[in-house]
Amino acid sequence: MSADPLSDECVLKWCNEAGDHVEHRLYVTSLFAWRSTWLIGVNLVQDDTGPPYVELTVSARFTAPTIVKLSAAEAEAIGKALLEASTRAVR
Ligand SMILES: [Zn+2]
Repeated sequence: MSADPLSDECVLKWCNEAGDHVEHRLYVTSLFAWRSTWLIGVNLVQDDTGPPYVELTVSARFTAPTIVKLSAAEAEAIGKALLEASTRAVR
């Protein structure tokens, strides 16, 4: 699937990409972390090779991002661990 040639918007309504693209991507969140030294992004990605997956991007200032691909189950496990750790951190 690609962009609708008449509108430049993707045919998938949830996709944030415009123009020609092979990976459909929803930018779920992007935030600066740890005293604004890290930029962290969480995206949902769909391509032609398999089921949708979660993409975690991490970059320090002025560096290329590290991209970690996670299955839905892996992302859920990490999300639960982050929630548990953050809950303990504020006790
Ligand atoms: Zn798309």
